[in-house]
Amino acid sequence: MRVAVIGGGVIGLTTAYALIREGHEVDLIERRDEVGLETSFANGGQLSYRYVSPLADAGVPLEALGWMLRSDAPLRFKPQFNLQQWRWCLQFLAACRRSVNQRNTAHLLRLALHSQKILSAWREQDALDNFAWRSNGKLVVYRTPTSWAKASKTPGDDNRQLLSAEQCLDTEPALAGIANELLGGVYAPGDEVGDCYLFCRQLLQRLQANSAFKLHANYDVKGLRVSNGKVKALQLNCGDEHLVDHLVVAAGVHSIALLKPLGIDVPLYPLKGYSLSLQLDNPKAVPETNVTDYDNKVVYARLDDQLRVAAMVDVGGWDSQLDALRIKQLRDLAARSFPEAGDFAAATPWAGLRPATPQGTPWLGASGINNLWLNLGHGSLGFTLACGSADVLAQLIAGSPAPIALDGLTHT
Ligand SMILES: Cc1cc2nc3c(=O)[nH]c(=O)nc-3n(C[C@H](O)[C@H](O)[C@H](O)COP(=O)(O)OP(=O)(O)OC[C@H]3O[C@@H](n4cnc5c(N)ncnc54)[C@H](O)[C@@H]3O)c2cc1C
Repeated sequence: MRVAVIGGGVIGLTTAYALIREGHEVDLIERRDEVGLETSFANGGQLSYRYVSPLADAGVPLEALGWMLRSDAPLRFKPQFNLQQWRWCLQFLAACRRSVNQRNTAHLLRLALHSQKILSAWREQDALDNFAWRSNGKLVVYRTPTSWAKASKTPGDDNRQLLSAEQCLDTEPALAGIANELLGGVYAPGDEVGDCYLFCRQLLQRLQANSAFKLHANYDVKGLRVSNGKVKALQLNCGDEHLVDHLVVAAGVHSIALLKPLGIDVPLYPLKGYSLSLQLDNPKAVPETNVTDYDNKVVYARLDDQLRVAAMVDVGGWDSQLDALRIKQLRDLAARSFPEAGDFAAATPWAGLRPATPQGTPWLGASGINNLWLNLGHGSLGFTLACGSADVLAQLIAGSPAPIALDGLTHT
């Protein structure tokens, strides 16, 4: 079977890879001249399999009101004259009920654990290891009594251990710089880290070694031609058409524009985030584990000789320009937390648009149109969920049963 995939980010590339492994022929269409240059480029690097709670949670609306008064708030809302933004926000508020959050967390956890299994199989079978991957665990640390009280209400287990402030420091001595503010932490020993862009590059290299794969870079898909209930062709910027048997849309936030003319109204909104990549002068001065500073909503991951710092959610439009104030806040916060790590003034800044649904759960599988499939809306967990989502798509397209229950993860 010949399958076209739109989008050369981590979702499109893993989909192409899973399809090639199943024996299909794959055309990957990407509008940039290289893969992995948009949201998959310099994200937080965390394969956060056991910490998948969506942003929409009880208490967030109230917290967000307080954040509106702060210029350094982790979440910033810029109101626009845009129906899509307001509709997304209303659906987000509806998803903030505790019971809805718990349901969506369970759906994401199922997909995340499947993803971990699939990545592990791919790494072992295809020696996919050249992307700063490590199994290093994740430690979420709490600095305020309210957040720590909430976190410590959930009992620990083998996958998720509650640690006192002292135990956090034993697990991660590089936290010494914030020792006097630490109240406790939650440690997930099975979580992993990797460089998402290098992962994309390595997938592409493996794909290009297979004659059944073809990358069509610099092709912008402008529309989808549908007739008799099937997608027949992609309409390209050069004026040509690319005929398709099966099509997967994995175009991140840009999936909205492709699907809307077909009557598929994807509830996506771009949640802008920022990162810094710091060349380390002193690797011992930064954590070995992935660390999330819960109250500041900042994540830290060591990727070989670099520290990746990622944070912030700006709800307010489609540009991925850097915001000087946000970058300064991120530099200051990271430098205060790990002062000996290196020269934060020289760290490379980046911004990207998370393709987020209000509930935080992606849309996988059937679209309602016969040969059109969806793999989109992975929000802040696209790297974590990519391999599992790709496997789900490859199984469904082959006509096999889904490898995990898909409730809460489909559109139809
Ligand atoms: C600051 C930040 C930190 C993050 N940290 C983490 C983390 O630690 N762990 C984690 O799991 N996730 C993280 N994420 C989320 C993760 O990066 C995204 O979920 C993921 O990259 C989305 O991948 P994608 O392939 O859907 O989108 P993209 O990477 O944006 O890829 C979509 C591709 O489609 C192409 N495209 C779009 N439209 C067309 C068209 N019409 N024709 C042809 N090509 C097209 C684009 O050029 C692009 O290359 C983070 C995100 C941000 C912003």
